Amino acid sequence: MTIDVKPTASHFINGEYIEGGTEDLPVIYPYTGEVVATLKLADDALVDQAVAAAKAAQPAWAAMSGVERGRILRRAADIMRERNRELSEIETMDTGKPLQETLVADAASGAEALEYFGGLAASLGGEHIQLGDDFAYTRREALGVCVGIGAWNYPIQIASWKSAPALACGNTMVFKPSETTPLSALKLAEILIEAGAPAGVFNVVQGKGAVGSRLVTHPDVAKVSLTGSVPTGRKVYAAAAEGLRHVTMELGGKSPLVIFDDANIENAVSAAINANFYSSGQICSNGTRVFVQKGIKEAFLSRLAERLKGVKMGDPMDEEVNFGPMVSEQQISIVEGYQAKAQAEGARLISGGKRLDGPGYWMEPTVYADVADDMTIAKEEIFGPVMSVLDFETEEEAIKRANATEFGLAAGVFTNDLSRGHRVAAAFEAGTTWINTYNLTPVEVPFGGSKMSGVGRENGRAAIEHYSEMKTVYVAMGDTEAPF
Ligand code: NDP
Repeated sequence: MTIDVKPTASHFINGEYIEGGTEDLPVIYPYTGEVVATLKLADDALVDQAVAAAKAAQPAWAAMSGVERGRILRRAADIMRERNRELSEIETMDTGKPLQETLVADAASGAEALEYFGGLAASLGGEHIQLGDDFAYTRREALGVCVGIGAWNYPIQIASWKSAPALACGNTMVFKPSETTPLSALKLAEILIEAGAPAGVFNVVQGKGAVGSRLVTHPDVAKVSLTGSVPTGRKVYAAAAEGLRHVTMELGGKSPLVIFDDANIENAVSAAINANFYSSGQICSNGTRVFVQKGIKEAFLSRLAERLKGVKMGDPMDEEVNFGPMVSEQQISIVEGYQAKAQAEGARLISGGKRLDGPGYWMEPTVYADVADDMTIAKEEIFGPVMSVLDFETEEEAIKRANATEFGLAAGVFTNDLSRGHRVAAAFEAGTTWINTYNLTPVEVPFGGSKMSGVGRENGRAAIEHYSEMKTVYVAMGDTEAPF
């Protein structure tokens, strides 16, 4: 089944849909490989128009009370929930992810972000510092125009995770979705207007790297938040630094999931499945290096093989389907390249391992065992349904090997030893860690990476720090002294 996902127009600027731009941008449904809509890439004039709209709208938006801004965001959350099915179908058509997932993980997560930050908006403030008779206070102020740039795996979630804290703090935003998934951010823009956001508060322009680059270096932009790969993150961070702009970088990972022999194996297998095959493995925080303690290795692998029989591929719009195609020909070719390397470098194939015939971009859920730390699949982010199982003997060894990567996005540990769980979580060099679960990212909890995986945090109160700045106001109660 396909649905009509053609948007009213390609861009959303200053409260309305706008058509125009340069090249065509085809939107492909990954299940069938068909073009389901054709948009246009923005030209420089449209990018400048979007930034100008955001700049013009920002002072009045920041001047509104937090209660008023929060009410609009919470109303947008309600509208998003009411339209969850429509938004989920659009997301499925854009990404290929099964409706079973998009119904619960995409617009639903976006609505939570709007609700959470809408709730915080009224209580953002500073502190009072008494200095004898004098005193000082701090004000939390908006940064100005923020730019959001998204990846293709969670399009509306990323747009919402960025815009909700930005708007709560009194900023306005220009958002550029990934060229691969341009549709749902337009819906968010529409919903914010319907919820009462003034024109220009949230704008969407379509484009590839060149549009992103123009936004990042625009003199009227105060902050850039990117979700993307490490190579893009490097470029965007450097370009933003030129103008000393604030940044949030949510980048890639090669995260470890360490399973000790005292763990509940069934739960550990569930976590390994979620951490490698949800969204066909196209999740930044995935635990793609599954370290299993030697004593339970065979039991773990045999239970995993058993559970993989439950995979149901097929029409992503069928709610029984629990595994969808990959997002694009480009991404599946990258993953095919890693499969070839894994097999050439001697990883033991437990299941899957190949691309299925089209239409669409189908990669089997794949598990390799006996993976060594120096194999390519253990070192590089694959961003597809490929799990590497590595074995280890001691806790010390597991921590050392888990941390032996330039990435530091996430990490998980499974154990029934309470002290060990906390000890290992503390030892992980990663921004987001889990004990006895994996990949849960509720909006109340800060999310982000360390090392090459990122800068800053999304979600939780922590995100407020990254979308606002402090102003100090010193108040003198007496005379002003001077040496002469
Ligand atoms: P890319 O890094 O290829 O692209 C990310 C975004 O940046 C896209 O919108 C892209 O545009 C844009 N872009 C590319 N070049 C530039 C530039 N020079 N200046 C400004 N913007 C630019 O990532 P993918 O879209 O392929 O997404 C996959 C990656 O995202 C993975 O590495 C994954 O780990 C990471 N990711 C991280 C998450 C996190 O929260 N830490 C969450 C989800 C994904 P376009 O693609 O349209 O050309």
